[in-house]
This record gives sequence, structure tokens and C-alpha cells, in this order.
Amino acid sequence: MLIPIKDVTPAVGHAHIAGWIHEERDLGGLTFLLVRDRTGILQVTIPKKKVTPDVLAAVKDATRESVIECEGEVKATEKAPGGRELIPETLRIISRAETPLPLDVSEKVPAEMDTRLDNRYLDLRKPRVNAIFQIRNACLRAVSEYLWDNKFTQVQTPKIVAAATEGGTELFPLAYFDQEAFLNQSPQLFKQMLMSSGFDRVFEIGPIFRAEEHNTLRHLNEATSIDIEMSFANEEDAMQILENTVSYAYKYVADHCADALTTLGLTNFKVPTVPFPRITYREAIEISTAGGEPLVFGDDLSTAAERVIGEKMGTMYFITEWPTSARPFYTMPFEDRPEVCRAFDMMHPRMELSSGAQRCHIYPLLIQQIKSKGLNPDAFEFYLNPFRYGMPPHAGWGLGAERLVMTMLDLNNIREAVLFPRDRHRVSP
Ligand code: ATP
Ligand code: MG
Repeated sequence: MLIPIKDVTPAVGHAHIAGWIHEERDLGGLTFLLVRDRTGILQVTIPKKKVTPDVLAAVKDATRESVIECEGEVKATEKAPGGRELIPETLRIISRAETPLPLDVSEKVPAEMDTRLDNRYLDLRKPRVNAIFQIRNACLRAVSEYLWDNKFTQVQTPKIVAAATEGGTELFPLAYFDQEAFLNQSPQLFKQMLMSSGFDRVFEIGPIFRAEEHNTLRHLNEATSIDIEMSFANEEDAMQILENTVSYAYKYVADHCADALTTLGLTNFKVPTVPFPRITYREAIEISTAGGEPLVFGDDLSTAAERVIGEKMGTMYFITEWPTSARPFYTMPFEDRPEVCRAFDMMHPRMELSSGAQRCHIYPLLIQQIKSKGLNPDAFEFYLNPFRYGMPPHAGWGLGAERLVMTMLDLNNIREAVLFPRDRHRVSP
């Protein structure tokens, strides 16, 4: 039976392992193969005079990144990683890697992001890169767990749609038989419709598609969105679910991903404390203006403004009470001062992680808001009908999974947080 490399200890005595050749060192009478699997790296020590001719022949033929299998005795040694080595009785090449390699998996030769992504299957073999995806996995598991525990039903809404969520131009058109269709930029309209259907609380973790032309370190053209919608709730209820979901994910990672965090050098991993501070949009633009990034009421927050405010705040925080003009038509304005609305953004000091709001559930007001954004309500009939036959007040948010992972692990480029990124110049692999 194969055993994971991390479980190979002198106590097991004899071990049968398989993995990739991470590095090879030939010291004349001795050859060292570092063998890597998903769980770690093991030194296989080959004293040339003491092993069988078959083992010797296999070692001679072995190349870096070949897949091998070997069996032998485990011995304690201080000089090898993990304080143990394996002396092979059998060693077999299962799949020989060609040379030269397109990418150095041991990371001794650094590579540009494009080279890495062109050869992503090899790049993902790097323990550091693999650790990111172990943590991403834990993060999304924690998010689901938290939401299930809080009575949210997980749903899947269509990604092929006939109308734009916000009427924007950031849509990928699609050939859909003889009709016009698009890839959905957000599950927004569908999760709201489910509130009228009585689901009470829903969440979805799925792809969103945005045909944004700009090529930045924090935008993808296909991203993963964590979306929730909840009934009989206002923006404050939605913010509480959001901060608790995020801190639960951090806590889960801290508790379950110690090895991956160590691999990434994140020895000082901190779980953010809740509640996150809340500042209003007016306070945010004052901080930005005082910090040298002047903004006036109604402006969107620029990247530079986000940085100034983030530095001042120093933790995750919320920006509330946005100008109604700066938010989508489905946002609920404050009754007594309709120029501001019940929207919020959740910010990491580096960037926006999530946008949300209490939604407008009042049919005539919603029609009016669609028109005032220059959109035609007829195009939204499928979405608007549910508001005519019993729609509870509701609130929700969308949280970018890649941005959550990127900021959690202090990654510089969002592409690091997705297996096969899609950006302005890349649709393959
Ligand atoms: P930004 O202003 O930072 O481009 P946004 O306000 O357009 O983001 P929303 O429509 O509010 O984005 O989407 C909610 C969340 O989804 C964002 O806060 C972000 O975490 C994530 N997200 C949105 N667009 C992208 C994208 N192109 N790439 C990666 N994540 C995204
Ligand atoms: Mg936003």
C-alpha cells in the first residue's frame, strides 16, 4: 500500500511511496532523489554499491519531474528533510519526464507570470502554489459550512442569460441558437427572485463573467463569486453575516491549514476580529481627501482612494450610506434622504472584497429606479414580475472568492488565486 510522504517515519520501518522527482543530486558513490507528493518531500538515498542493478538503472534513467514509485527501509537521519530517508529495495520509473523542463518546479530559477501560466500544470506542482489551493479549498468549505449552519440554502442559477444584470456593457455575448444571450455577470437578479419564491436565505458559489477590458492585478474576466440573499433583512443584517462568514473562513484556515500557511511563510496569520468598523461614504471621502486623494460626493472610490482609506483604517472595514447615484437600480434608498442608499462595501485595507445592500422590494419604486438609470423595464420583465405578487424586504452581498484568498494570503496578483485564470490576453490553458 502506498503511504503519503508526510507519514513516512522511521517508526513505519518499511515504506512504499510514489511521487515526482523534485531534485536529484549525484555525489559519486551516493545519489539523492528528493521525491515529492501532495503531502511533502522525502529523501531517497541510493548507495550505489548496495542497491540492485535494476534500481541503479532506473536512477540513471530518472529525470527531474518524472513520476516514480519506490519501496524500501526508512531510516532516521538528521541531514534529510523531515529527519528521515528511504533506502530503496525497488525503484521504478512510472512516467519519465522529458528534458529540459519548460519550468523549474523547485523554484531555483524564477519565472515570469506568463511563463508560469503557460505551463500551469507544472507551476501547480510547486509546494507553495499548491498550498494556495489547499487554502482556497478550506476557505470555500468554511464559507459553505458557515452559511449552511445559518440556514442558507445553496443554489445554482443560470450562467446563460438574456438580460444584463445592470444593463452595463461589460458582458460577453454568446451565440445561443437564433437568440441573443450573454454570460451572466452576477447572480443578482436570480437570487432576488428566489426571495419572492420563499427560499428565505440562499447562497451560491459560482462563476461570474465580466468583459472588462482593463488588465489589472485584481480583476479577472472569469471570477468566482460567493453570493447571498436573505429575506426580512436589512443592510446591517447582511453586513453581520458577511463579517462573520469572513472571520469564520480565516479561523477555519488558521485551525486546519497550518502546514500550507507555513509553506507560504505566513507564520503570523491573524483572524480578523468582528465586528469590522463601519464608516459612512461621507467619512470615507473625507479621509481620502485629507490623505491627498480628493473626492466629492457621488464619486466612485478610485484605487488610490481605497489605498489611502485602507491605510488609515488598518483592518477590514465597511463603507456604508453610499450615494444612490453611485449604486445599481436594485438598491434601497433611505426613506428620509433618498440621495443616499442602504448599500455597503466591505473593504480589506488593500481593496474592495464585497458589495451589498438592502434591496428595493417596492415595485413602483424599482420601476422608477430602473428608468432613472436609463434602462428599459421591459427588458427586466422576468425579474420584475416577482415583485408584483408578494416580495419580502431583503438584503444580500457578493464576495469575490479570489480577492478573499488573495488578501488573506497577501498575494500580489489575483491570478495566483485561480487555477487557470482568464484575463484580457488569456483564454488558454
Ligand atoms: P471593482 O470596483 O473592484 O472592480 P466591482 O464593484 O465592479 O469591483 P461588484 O460588482 O461589486 O464588483 O462585485 C462584487 C465583488 O465581486 C467585488 O467586490 C469583488 O470581490 C468581486 N469581483 C467583481 N468583479 C471582479 C473581477 N472582474 N475580478 C475578480 N473579482 C471580481
Ligand atoms: Mg462593488
